[in-house]
Amino acid sequence: MSEIFTGGFTQQEPIPEEGIAAALNVLRHGRLHRYNLAPGELGEAAELEQEFAATTGAKYCLAVASGGYAMATALRALGVAAGDRVLSNAFTLAPVPGAIASIGAVPVFVGVSDALRIDLADLGEKITTSGAKILLLSHMRGHICDMDALMQICDRAGVRVIEDCAHTMGAAWNGTPSGRFGVMGCYSAQTYKHVNSGEGGFLVSDDADLMARAILLSGSYMLYERHIAAPPPEAFAKVKYDTPNISGRMDNLRAAILRPQIARLAEQREKWNARYRKLEQGLKGTPGLTLIERPHRESYVGSSFQMLLLDWPVARVEQVVARCKARGVELKWFGAPEPAGFTSTYRHWRYANPHPMPQTDRVLAGLLDMRLPLTFTLEECDQIAEILRAEIGALHQYV
Ligand SMILES: *Cc1c(COP(=O)(O)O)cnc(C)c1O
Repeated sequence: MSEIFTGGFTQQEPIPEEGIAAALNVLRHGRLHRYNLAPGELGEAAELEQEFAATTGAKYCLAVASGGYAMATALRALGVAAGDRVLSNAFTLAPVPGAIASIGAVPVFVGVSDALRIDLADLGEKITTSGAKILLLSHMRGHICDMDALMQICDRAGVRVIEDCAHTMGAAWNGTPSGRFGVMGCYSAQTYKHVNSGEGGFLVSDDADLMARAILLSGSYMLYERHIAAPPPEAFAKVKYDTPNISGRMDNLRAAILRPQIARLAEQREKWNARYRKLEQGLKGTPGLTLIERPHRESYVGSSFQMLLLDWPVARVEQVVARCKARGVELKWFGAPEPAGFTSTYRHWRYANPHPMPQTDRVLAGLLDMRLPLTFTLEECDQIAEILRAEIGALHQYV
């Protein structure tokens, strides 16, 4: 009864053959820089942007060096300056407050509900107390809040929203793709996200002025006319003397790897969700364990799985993590006193001088998180659920 799982939680699928062939082609012709084009050539980066814009329904798209860079660029494009306060999630990953801090602005953290979404009551309160005019909203681990309610709160208060869609590429709320509610949407193409070019990111928007600034900021020099999914030259003419070049471009090699992956996003979403549902089914009714209900209007991409051991003593949660690890199941715990690996919480981001948030701490203290790479088979997902169920069940009797 002590089966050990041997799959790798950080092992993603290989790059599609089509992407490998396209990458080799770029390596052979040698024009890796996005503006290094042969006569008549559009370039992989520009074509990627056009294709990603179409996927999201956005007018404009800019591919950049990383998701973190996309967020910092969005903040700069919106005119956020040093000392400004920017609202963001207490439950997110370090590059989100990091993007805010990178321009000298100050993150103001908004709490998380026990459904792992941003706490809208706390958002309202923090808007009032902080006076912040920008929300960098992180759809952390793919959980999308009631976007209609959120946009209403923000619109009323004159708060502009930038969406961090690092975990919601391919997801939607009530039929609208994630990233299309705010003035700008940011995505990541880093290895552990929904597409993989090692590093990479995207910005989308319908706003010509913001996107012209973002393209100039990304280091377009005066070659912005080589972009396809970009605003007309007039938009650039207005800001080209006032916008610094802060190099963070996408290159043709990574773009070549990404294009076939963007094309199969919907197909991948189904594969992820089949795995997610296996976990959900296998864990339903586990004593002491709270699963996260997914709202009807949310169309998610189940690339990771979260569950709560709400109000369990710290030592017991630690035992669950250790026992699962011994059986090959890697869990990330958001209640750990010290940041570990990719996981840290708002309490660890001391540069932002965070205030304690008891409700949020309660949720994070019980929050277990697991990656679901597509290299796992459905049978392996059943096996993982069995292991979790057994180990959580064994310890629950002592809680
Ligand atoms: C990964 C991640 C990012 C940033 O992406 P990078 O491409 O690694 O810079 C932003 N937000 C969240 C929630 C992430 O997980």
